[in-house]
Amino acid sequence: MTTKPLDFLPPAFVAAVCAFWAFAPAAWVDSPWSMMIVALAIPLLIQAIEAVAERHADWRLDRREFATDIGYLLFNATVIAWLTTHLAEDPLRAAKASLGITTGWAMHLPFLVQVGIVILVIELGQYAMHRAMHNTFLWHTHAPHHHLTQLNAMKGAVGNPVELFLISLSVVALFDLPTAAVFCGISVLVVTSVFAHANIRADPPLFYSFFFTTIRHHSLHHSTGYDETRSNYANSLILLDRLFGTYREGEGVVVGQDERRRLSIREQTLFPLRPLLDRVKVRRRSATAG
Ligand SMILES: [Zn+2]
Ligand SMILES: [Zn+2]
Repeated sequence: MTTKPLDFLPPAFVAAVCAFWAFAPAAWVDSPWSMMIVALAIPLLIQAIEAVAERHADWRLDRREFATDIGYLLFNATVIAWLTTHLAEDPLRAAKASLGITTGWAMHLPFLVQVGIVILVIELGQYAMHRAMHNTFLWHTHAPHHHLTQLNAMKGAVGNPVELFLISLSVVALFDLPTAAVFCGISVLVVTSVFAHANIRADPPLFYSFFFTTIRHHSLHHSTGYDETRSNYANSLILLDRLFGTYREGEGVVVGQDERRRLSIREQTLFPLRPLLDRVKVRRRSATAG
């Protein structure tokens, strides 16, 4: 495969967000809005690039897909972010303080090393959670994300609310790190995971794709075959799949599950309750038959 200029787009975005947070004024870093604005701006910008650098015509956004994706993006940035902060991160910080856990050494590391720690800690958690979702009862929460019948920049935000909450959990709050490094690490994860879902003709060179998940890796994870979906679990850091033996080479073009039926928002939300709802239905039917 010959390299084309577009292939350098994901690494350029990673470099840009690193430079942004490394040199951001303190007022921006301390603002409660800055992370939310960046987390919304990145997917919207990459979504706009799909219009001029499309990978597959079959994945092109129509109005319904666009409206759904925007809705989930906002839901993640508001409701899920609020739940994660109040139900997971604040209690974790309180436990850290009461147990006297300190990692002061981390405050003195070079900026990019701190960013690397944030990426590694968050991605180890996401990898473990995502792999568990594919191999335990948690699958019922993750399956709606695999019912997607096309991939687009904002599709990483689409799924069952329980899954969206579970996949957002991390223990990064246990580390003493400068806010700018934490925001930078999260921004790099947003860039890489958004590009991993984006319908863009970018196939980054090995210096990027050895470490970070690309659309090739993640589209294979979304393809219709069972074995393919049990590989390439890393949302952003494909290096973890390489290390833990779950890496698979290839690319998916036809994506989806169960006859590739697109689920409505209601179906995605109620999906984990399906076994229960089915049982109620059967019981009702046998009651009326009896
Ligand atoms: Zn999955
Ligand atoms: Zn995905």
